[in-house]
Amino acid sequence: MDAEHTKIPQATAKRLPLYYRFLNNLHSQGKLRVSSRELSEAVKVDSATIRRDFSYFGALGKKGYGYNVEYLLSFFRKTLDQDETTKVALIGVGNLGTAFLNYNFTKNNNTKIEVAFDASSDRIGEEVGGVPVQHIDDLEKRMDGIGVAILTVPATAAQGIADRLVAAGISGVLNFTPARITVPSNVRVHHIDLAIELQALVYFLKHYPLNEED
Ligand code: ATP
Repeated sequence: MDAEHTKIPQATAKRLPLYYRFLNNLHSQGKLRVSSRELSEAVKVDSATIRRDFSYFGALGKKGYGYNVEYLLSFFRKTLDQDETTKVALIGVGNLGTAFLNYNFTKNNNTKIEVAFDASSDRIGEEVGGVPVQHIDDLEKRMDGIGVAILTVPATAAQGIADRLVAAGISGVLNFTPARITVPSNVRVHHIDLAIELQALVYFLKHYPLNEED
């Protein structure tokens, strides 16, 4: 995102890809406008939040008319740099890493996994989901133009790999390992621990059951 949009609150910025994906679908169906209620039902964000989010980028829906899909899409495309593809590396071609490589990120998105790394000789030289698997020892040699990395190695390997990624000039890490990694303040880490997310969901279901009328 460029400097012009740094004023958007982080919580709003996080929802942009969600809005973008839904609006892209609407656009390909030939829809010209969408109400905040329709959007709300589709992306599961309440309509007051949607209206507030959209007000940050000057998209003011008219009552009974809704939002202009084309306008919103062109805004999101610019804000999310959809015209530019971000090259991504994936480290650790185990079960999770393999699933990501086989998952087509580019369908609705502007990111592309260009290269994967692993330490196991069985995996080196293979192509998974069309992505070549390189030896982890060659990491520094193959990070040209790659700004983001997905970490799907065992937790014990996470910090060591993160240090090497930082030295190679990475700016963002999507960390799927349970390890909390330490990086310099100019590197952004998003941490996704699937086991914890699942545990949290079960806890919430138990302690904060949703009522039909909520
Ligand atoms: P997952 O956690 O994705 O289900 P898994 O159970 O198949 O994976 P893990 O032991 O978690 O296997 O390892 C994930 C992958 O990371 C494996 O393919 C392994 O060879 C690789 N790996 C382990 N250590 C390193 C390392 N230091 N550098 C790069 N790759 C590594």
